[in-house]
Amino acid sequence: MNSYDLIIVGAGIAGKATALRLARLGLKIVHIAPNFDPGIHCNDDLTWDSRIYALSSSSQQLLSDMNVWAAMDHGRTQIVSDMRIFGDSGQAQDELHFSAYSATVPQLAWIVEASHIERTLDAASQFQGNIQRITDKISDFISTKDAVTVHTESGQSFTAKLLIAADGARSPIREKLQIETPINDYGQTAVVANFECELDHQGTACQWFLENGEILALLPLPNKKLSMVWSAQAAHAEQLQQCNPETLSSAVMAAAFGSVRQRFGTLKVITNPKNFPLRRMKAQRIIAPDQHPRIILIGDAAHVMHPLAGQGLNLGLRDVATLGQLIETKEAFRSIDDPVLLRRYERSRHGDTDALLFTTDQLQKLFASPSGLLKTVRNMGMGLVNRSRFLKRQLIKKALS
Ligand SMILES: Cc1cc2nc3c(=O)[nH]c(=O)nc-3n(C[C@H](O)[C@H](O)[C@H](O)COP(=O)(O)OP(=O)(O)OC[C@H]3O[C@@H](n4cnc5c(N)ncnc54)[C@H](O)[C@@H]3O)c2cc1C
Repeated sequence: MNSYDLIIVGAGIAGKATALRLARLGLKIVHIAPNFDPGIHCNDDLTWDSRIYALSSSSQQLLSDMNVWAAMDHGRTQIVSDMRIFGDSGQAQDELHFSAYSATVPQLAWIVEASHIERTLDAASQFQGNIQRITDKISDFISTKDAVTVHTESGQSFTAKLLIAADGARSPIREKLQIETPINDYGQTAVVANFECELDHQGTACQWFLENGEILALLPLPNKKLSMVWSAQAAHAEQLQQCNPETLSSAVMAAAFGSVRQRFGTLKVITNPKNFPLRRMKAQRIIAPDQHPRIILIGDAAHVMHPLAGQGLNLGLRDVATLGQLIETKEAFRSIDDPVLLRRYERSRHGDTDALLFTTDQLQKLFASPSGLLKTVRNMGMGLVNRSRFLKRQLIKKALS
């Protein structure tokens, strides 16, 4: 039997960042996942990952603290200097505009490829002798008063003080623990793809709430490229994914009464479109609900939200940062599996998670409603917020965290 301080399950960005953050505190870690390779290799301007993330300051800070941010290829990251959000009236005045200039910050967010973050985390982890990676799937786990033991499909077993489940939205660990996790299926699927655009995007991220309740976001990438997240009704998403490249480009350019073409000129697809069904879910507990909780949830295993605010991963990375901070500053007499410490983790994550899930959910519902009255109110509301310096400052403060 192999004995460790921590077992981390799942090698998405949340799992990899957790391993690196906690290894830097000197903890002995076994990291288990079926696959550690992000797959796509993007080394030149011709190959771009279609999984793109808008990172907030808190995520950038965590990556900087772990020396990961400095090691990234910043020729492949894009600063967002403006965000423009359009209502579904097609009227120019129903727009919400945030700018880094008026918020007196250098940028509102950073746009980065998923595989780029993962590869840089992988490179940094190689220098941590106390992380052992095991390519395997976990098949079972047993938590007792003294330790937690994980068994894998290939017959290996590992024991530790604590198990961290970073095993994604369908978390097998959360399911086995029977943690209640209400799921709200939006009936929408996100279609993601990258484009080259004719006109300079000038670091502007745009999001259109469309008439049929769909949401189209175009995020800037370096060298006149854009990343699209089109949250479409399931059947429409299927159609968009089946389109040939020319038809897909035309559909995007024509969206929002032709505003996309007006703003970015002609678009040309440069990656195959991919689909992601959209759900909202929140685990009711993020530590195992028993007397000796030796298991905690992190990232999408704990919460999943609509991508309209581009915050799911940012929230997961704040889980990582909080856990790291709590362990780093714990009282010397507490061990990392002290129930008091784990309850602190759970308590400190509720507010942030609930607020983001609530806001994204309400926004999605507000714009999905076909009511004519709501349509007038929501579009007027955007215009009003846009004209109120105070409200905009509050919104931007929240968005920049
Ligand atoms: C279209 C779209 C756009 C988005 N855009 C943004 C954005 O701009 N900004 C943002 O912050 N967020 C965004 N998100 C959210 C973001 O994608 C997720 O929050 C993030 O990827 C979750 O990472 P994770 O590491 O928690 O989970 P995952 O990436 O799902 O990783 C889970 C890991 O667990 C492993 N695993 C599963 N089962 C087992 C098992 N039995 N044994 C071992 N390992 C197992 C998997 O193999 C995988 O490695 C977006 C989401 C979507 C769908």
